[in-house]
Formats: sequence, C-alpha cells, structure tokens
Amino acid sequence: MNIQMVDLYNQYLKIKEEIDLEIQKVIQTSVFVKGGKVLEFEDNLKQYLEVNHVVSCGNGTDALQIALMALELNEGDEVITTPFTFVSTLEVLALMKLKPVLVDVDPHTFNIRPELVSRHIDFKTKAIVPVHLFGQCADMESLLEIARENNLYMIEDACQALGTEYIFKNGMTAKAGTMGDIACNSFFPTKNLGAFGDGGALYTNSEKLAQIMRSIANHGMSKRYYYQQIGLNSRLDAIQAAILDVKLKYLDQYVQARQLAAEFYDRELSGIAEISIPARAEYSSHTFHQYTLKVPEKRDELQRFLQAKGIPSMVYYPMPLHLQEAYQYLGYHKGDFPVAEELSEQVLSLPMHTELTDGELSFISSAIREFFN
Ligand SMILES: *Cc1c(COP(=O)(O)O)cnc(C)c1O
Repeated sequence: MNIQMVDLYNQYLKIKEEIDLEIQKVIQTSVFVKGGKVLEFEDNLKQYLEVNHVVSCGNGTDALQIALMALELNEGDEVITTPFTFVSTLEVLALMKLKPVLVDVDPHTFNIRPELVSRHIDFKTKAIVPVHLFGQCADMESLLEIARENNLYMIEDACQALGTEYIFKNGMTAKAGTMGDIACNSFFPTKNLGAFGDGGALYTNSEKLAQIMRSIANHGMSKRYYYQQIGLNSRLDAIQAAILDVKLKYLDQYVQARQLAAEFYDRELSGIAEISIPARAEYSSHTFHQYTLKVPEKRDELQRFLQAKGIPSMVYYPMPLHLQEAYQYLGYHKGDFPVAEELSEQVLSLPMHTELTDGELSFISSAIREFFN
C-alpha cells in the first residue's frame, strides 16, 4: 500500500484527457498571461461562490497582500488575527508594516475566538483577518457583528476553505470567502482546488475594491503603461487557469470525497479515548482541507509508529507564529496564547485527499487503534 498525504497524480489521471486538451488549447493560442482563459475561470468561480467579483493573482500570500494594499491602511494600523495558521497570514501584515495583534483560538475548532477579538480592539484597530482553518469557517456571524460595530474591515483568509458553507442563525448560507469585505484564496496544489503550480484569487462584492485589486495585481496599471498606484506583478497564468477551470467542475465531488473519508475516520476513531476527532461547528460545513486529530499524550510517538507502517501524517502547525524567530520583534512570549501553544503539541493531520480508498482508510485507522491498544 502506497499511502500519501495528498495524491494529486491519481486525481489527475481521472480527468487527464480534459486537462491535457485544455493545456494544449492554451499553448495553441499562446496567450499565457492574462487573456480569455483566465477571465473565463474567474467568471466560473464567481458563479460557484455567488460573489460579485473574483480577481485572480499569483498565489494566496499575494492575495492577502493585495487585499491589505487595496484597503489603504496606514503604517502602524492594527490588524487582529490568529497565531495558529500558516505563516502568510501574519507575514503580509509584517511586510505591509501593519501591527499584527494576535488573539488565541478555540481549542475545538482551532479558529479565532470572537470574544478575544472584541477585547483587543482599540482606536488603532482597522481590520480583522479570520482564517477558516483546515476547511471549517471561523465564527463569522459573531465576527461580522464585531466588525460592523467597530467599523473594521473583514478580510477572510479562505485559503483552506474553498467550497465550505457558512450557516447563519436564520438558516441562510454563504460560501466561505463571500461574507467579509475581501477574501483570499490559494490554488497551491494541495488546497481544496489545486493548480499544477502556484495561483491565488481575491473575492469581493465591492466593484470599487475589485477594480483596485485587479489593478494592484498588475503593477497598479490603469490603462496600458499608466499607473494609478504602486502595484505588484501577481497574475494567475493561463495554463493554471485552464487546469483550475476543469477541476472547478469537479470541486463539489472532491469535497464530497473528502467528507466521506472524514466520516470513515470518524467512525473508526471516535471510540479511542486518547484522541479527539475534529470538532464540527454548528455554523459551518467542513471541507477537510485537513483531517486533524488532537492527541494530548504521545503525539510524536504515534506519528513515528504510523511512519514505520508507511503511513504519512503531518503536524500543522508545530510552532505557533508568535514563537517563531522571525516574529520575535512583535514582543510576544511563551504562554501568551496557551491554546495555540497546546495545539501545536497535540495536533496530527492524517492523510486526506480525494483518492483515499476504504482499504487505505481502514489500514490507517487500524494502525491508530493498534497504537492505543
Ligand atoms: C496556503 C495558505 C496561504 C498561502 O497561500 P500560497 O498560495 O501558498 O501563497 C495563506 N493562508 C493560509 C491559511 C493557507 O493555508
């Protein structure tokens, strides 16, 4: 059995003809940057999300930076986000000379806690950047209310949650990334919708922000060779757009495959007292970008045990961002975010992708049961 954390090749083989044909078409037109295919994909994603505007860009990190640039924040403005996420969320704030204000996360959902956000708002706070970690939405209804009351921008880091659905208390639903002022997505190969390289996108319902972000992603250009603001070179190329456009048609199927794998793990693992299976929030679906266990004791031993049986697993994330060397200048210390710190010692993500077989899932689950027996 050759179990992988993520199996992109077998996913590709199932739609190889379609993908190869679309790549050939781009090569024939030889419009590799910008052009029709990119716009077509943006349009299809826009319809999938039911959002007014999708602006593609080079990657998810750029998307976060472009969002912050578009909001015209000033140096030293405060932005509230989480220490338990991929580095980009924080990195772009540092690059933009904004002041990251970190608040701890919920021990069950791993997402930012709204009541802690409230407590850290002052006159310099300009925005909140919640991350929908591992494929489950943060508590957006509470966060949106806080943003509204305090006149803050909301930038959703939706890089791990394409296809996730938020459920409001009144029963209305919205796709992750369509609730804030701007949302950022990544098409990194292992994300819910992965390219064959880097790619990213911004979503917004604001025509004005969409136009500014489109310009920023293309050097701040207004009309050709006239620049209205300082921008970046951050574009989705046409070959990636063509691949993503094919895969977008299968996204709901891919999400369902992940959810079925998660249910399998749930059934097999929920009886083990030493671990916790992923908690589900009542206000969000879960698209399982990661299927992440909490293993309070012997996490590393379990990982080594699985490795010896040929089962890969990953720790997302082994060190919360406030303890990273690069971010010591922020002045945080060990103990500042006890939940994030504890999670970094307890989490273990199991293989999760669209091609997992019952045989593989059963082998992985049995190995975990065996370890605790
Ligand atoms: C992947 C990811 C990013 C960055 O995306 P890239 O395309 O790799 O730049 C940002 N935030 C989160 C939460 C991510 O998972």
